[in-house]
Amino acid sequence: MTNPTDVAVETRSFEADVAKLLHMMVHSVYSDKDVFLRELISNAADACEKLRYESLSDPTLAGSDSASVTVTLDPDARQIIVEDNGIGMSEAELVEALGTIARSGTKAFMDRIATAREAEGTQLIGQFGVGFYSAFMVADRVDVFSRRAGADQAAHWCSDGLGTYTVQPADTAEAPVRGTRVTLRLKEDASAYTERYRTQQIIKDQSGHVPVPIFLKEKPD
Ligand code: ADP
Ligand code: MG
Repeated sequence: MTNPTDVAVETRSFEADVAKLLHMMVHSVYSDKDVFLRELISNAADACEKLRYESLSDPTLAGSDSASVTVTLDPDARQIIVEDNGIGMSEAELVEALGTIARSGTKAFMDRIATAREAEGTQLIGQFGVGFYSAFMVADRVDVFSRRAGADQAAHWCSDGLGTYTVQPADTAEAPVRGTRVTLRLKEDASAYTERYRTQQIIKDQSGHVPVPIFLKEKPD
C-alpha cells in the first residue's frame, strides 16, 4: 500500500474555458439538472465501447467480466456513484479529459454562450449536452478514480468545480480493477437524486438507448 504522505498531489487550474463553463454549471439556474446523469452514463458506456474496440487488437485488455455501468445511491452520504468497467483513464488522460475542453460539442456551446445573454445560456445546456462538467450542477465535489485497462497504476481526480482540481496516483484498493468510478457529493438541494424511484425513472427516460446494461444499486450492498 502506498503511504499517502508519499503520494504526489498536484493542484492544477482548469483551462480558462472550462472555468467559465464550470462557473455556469455551479451557478446554473437551469431547471433540468437531470441531464447530468445522462452525461455520466453516456461517458461510462462510451468507455465500455472503447474497451471493446481496443480489445479487438489486444484481447488481454478485457477481463472476464462483461461490460456494465453501475449507478449506486447512498442517501446517508448524499452521494451518487457512476462506475464502469470500460477503458479507464491514466493520470495524464484525466488531466487532458477533465481539465480542458477537448470535445467539439462543448466548444460549439462555448461559442454560442459567448454571444448569448445569461438566461439564454442556461437554456443552451440541455440543447448541447455539456458532458462531464454538468455534474457540478448537482454536486459540490466530484471524485474520479480510474484505472486504464492493462495498467497497474490507478489515479484520482478531485474537484469542487471552483477553479482548480487535484490529481494524484491512487491507492490500488480505492480504484476499480479496470475502468472509472465517478462519485458525486450532492448539493443539499439535489439530495433527491439518491431516491431510487426518481433516479430509476431518469435512467429509463434518458438512457434507455445505451448499449450497455445499467445496474442501479443502493448502499450498503
Ligand atoms: P465527451 O463525452 O463528449 O467527449 P465529456 O465532457 O462527457 O465529453 O467527457 C470528456 C472526456 O472525458 C471524454 O471524451 C473521455 O475521454 C473522458 N471520460 C469521461 N468519463 C469517462 C469514463 N467514464 N471513462 C473513460 N473516459 C471518460
Ligand atoms: Mg460525454
